[in-house]
Amino acid sequence: MPSGAETAAVRPETRVNHPPRVELPPGNRPLTPPIYQSVKFEFESVDETLRALNGQRPGFFYSRTGNPTVRQLELLLAELQGRDDAIACASGVNAIAQALFSLTSAGDHVLCFAETYNPSRQIIRRFLARFGVRHTMLSIDDLAGIERTLAGVPTRLVFLETPTNPVTKVADLATITRLAHAHGALTVLDNTFAGFHQHGDYDVDVFLHSLTKYAAGTGDVMGGVAIARRELVQAMRPDWGLFGAQLDPHAAFLLMRGMKTYFLRYRAQCAAALSLAGFLAAHPAVERVRYPGLPGHPQAALARAQMREFGSIVTFDLKGGPESGRRFAEALQLFAITASLGSTESLVLPPQMIRPKDFTPEQAEWSDIRPGTVRLSIGLEDPDDLRADLARALDLT
Ligand SMILES: *Cc1c(COP(=O)(O)O)cnc(C)c1O
Repeated sequence: MPSGAETAAVRPETRVNHPPRVELPPGNRPLTPPIYQSVKFEFESVDETLRALNGQRPGFFYSRTGNPTVRQLELLLAELQGRDDAIACASGVNAIAQALFSLTSAGDHVLCFAETYNPSRQIIRRFLARFGVRHTMLSIDDLAGIERTLAGVPTRLVFLETPTNPVTKVADLATITRLAHAHGALTVLDNTFAGFHQHGDYDVDVFLHSLTKYAAGTGDVMGGVAIARRELVQAMRPDWGLFGAQLDPHAAFLLMRGMKTYFLRYRAQCAAALSLAGFLAAHPAVERVRYPGLPGHPQAALARAQMREFGSIVTFDLKGGPESGRRFAEALQLFAITASLGSTESLVLPPQMIRPKDFTPEQAEWSDIRPGTVRLSIGLEDPDDLRADLARALDLT
């Protein structure tokens, strides 16, 4: 039933539930898009509703399966990543879990890597395994092993990350996507560290991002997205509707607001990260710095070929080991000791909060996480203040 001002003579108790409608006249629009904070949408008749539900006319019906504010964010992110469609959801981990579930079936095989965000490994090991999806876990550096595995085992998809979390190894995207496609496997890339504007030129089938990081920018809202060509997104969307972890329209609005300053923030954070990585590399308390933009990174040339900016994560090893890492983290005044990245404030993860507990000795070797490994996420503070804070804390290690 149409509601609003045209509804005749009702009591106040009814009116508060059918308030006057304010619609913008044609030719008049807001510069900031409205938040469609509505679960339900209606049409004028049963027939029009049925036509919409059957896909015979455009329109929104129920926000779990589609909402205009969320849709606007999806279309923006798809375009930035150079693909034609996207589905947003409640968190980055949610996007990873839903993508892996909707792309695999019992009996499938997945190729994945030790150098991957810890919850992604758990989704593959614990959940997918329970539903009969097998996996092989290699090192992202092991191109020969990747080729051998793909040639030996029919593989549904290759799940990877670059730069990897937390040690920022760089995956060889041209080689890995070529090998995967030669053997009929999809490539699914968690592109959170690199951002929405990088890696779109590579033959990646599905990009996943945590929107909690660089999209939000301010560390106050969570979200996730899968970005892919239209057929793949259409194939995943019905499953995602059933998982029911839709992004809330208000979160979508905040994420879109964050995206307005995405390029400015990302580039400023990368420039500060590069300069601080150089400072750390020259410091006597530091054993090794891994920042893909530094010439000393083991894959500096590959990083330069694949990326224009190298991210805001600077991972390095302290000579003094774990206790020195603890003292360092606690001595920092401008870096909060906590998870996440890509927000305006700088963060630090000491060795005690990085070391995975689920690795075999061989996987631990591949991971390149050492006893003194510390991860910094560089925010938008003044880089000289950050450098002074790092210098002071290093003196106390
Ligand atoms: C943070 C992160 C995620 C998970 O995102 P949430 O929004 O926290 O669920 C996934 N992948 C990478 C690489 C991340 O850094």
